[in-house]
Amino acid sequence: MRDRYGRKIDYMRISVTDRCNFRCRYCMPDGIKQVPMSKILTYEQIAEICEAAVSSGITKFKITGGEPLVRLGCPDLVRMIREIPGTEQITMTTNGMLLSEMLPELKRSGLDAVNISLDTLKPEVFRFITGVDALDRVLGSIRDAVDAGLRVKINSVLQQGVNDGEWKELIRLAEHQPVDVRFIEMMPIGHGKDFTEISNEEIRRRVTEFWPGTREDRTVHGNGPACYLRIPGFLGSIGFISAMHGKFCGSCNRIRLTSQGKLKPCLCYGESVDLMDIFRVPDRTMRKQMLEEKLSEAVGKKPESHCFTELSEITEKKDMVQIGG
Ligand code: SAM
Ligand code: SF4
Repeated sequence: MRDRYGRKIDYMRISVTDRCNFRCRYCMPDGIKQVPMSKILTYEQIAEICEAAVSSGITKFKITGGEPLVRLGCPDLVRMIREIPGTEQITMTTNGMLLSEMLPELKRSGLDAVNISLDTLKPEVFRFITGVDALDRVLGSIRDAVDAGLRVKINSVLQQGVNDGEWKELIRLAEHQPVDVRFIEMMPIGHGKDFTEISNEEIRRRVTEFWPGTREDRTVHGNGPACYLRIPGFLGSIGFISAMHGKFCGSCNRIRLTSQGKLKPCLCYGESVDLMDIFRVPDRTMRKQMLEEKLSEAVGKKPESHCFTELSEITEKKDMVQIGG
């Protein structure tokens, strides 16, 4: 499917829950009022949406949250999407807390790759950022996911005076393991507004200075807007998702589905297209047609670009955990 600006939209991020077992300071520090399960899409409904999406040319899916693995039976959803003919790729973004124990089932269900969020290698900083003592578990999940043969990416958000000094140590995770380490610039969504982002340009500069011989890596690493560097001798690459200092909207390929059944054309704006009502229609064929129409409507509403640098223009008021980061 193409949007008004000619961009090919073939990727959907699906939030399966707004709940989480962490309390990251930039995402949901105090928790949020939990939405009752009756207002959350069932896995069957999500699979129906994915079926309509695949028919519309959206064939790559990322399962996220909140924390996707706190929702019971998450591997079942992976399997249901995998069984849709035409699905090309299913990946997941997780905080890694529950990943190790669920890896065998996730793999069997057809998960292709996993992004694990990790902002620090210091236990006390980990607790400060996430509210939980779980650094070892997350590091264990990274090792187990690699051993299980999944493609693994690590997502790190740097905060001034908290973990920005750890950029080198985080990068070294890619030295002896085939994992990509990616720095995501803090975005002014929800509690993210309370932080000043660390520019990825600055981290890139430091990397090339510290590791001479570092060069651009132009191979395709996934569906996202990350740019990559390759450090000589490292097994993994270093990625930069620079929403603030490297606007990548020209190559945006995605829409988002919230756990409450809303399609979001862009992370920055509150506008959404509601799908919940469609599930009152008893006829499945008719539902599929209606879902396809709504997907096309949402893609048609994609703006040319986000406005993260103009805070007053950001109309999305929800936290990242509610939207699906
Ligand atoms: N719970 C899962 C996790 O932490 O990976 C999935 C959801 S989380 C919202 C997805 C990603 O969004 C995480 O890597 C997190 O660090 C990132 N994130 C959350 N709030 C953000 C913000 N304001 N700016 C940039 N990234 C953010
Ligand atoms: Fe939970 Fe992920 Fe948000 Fe942290 S970033 S609070 S782990 S949803």
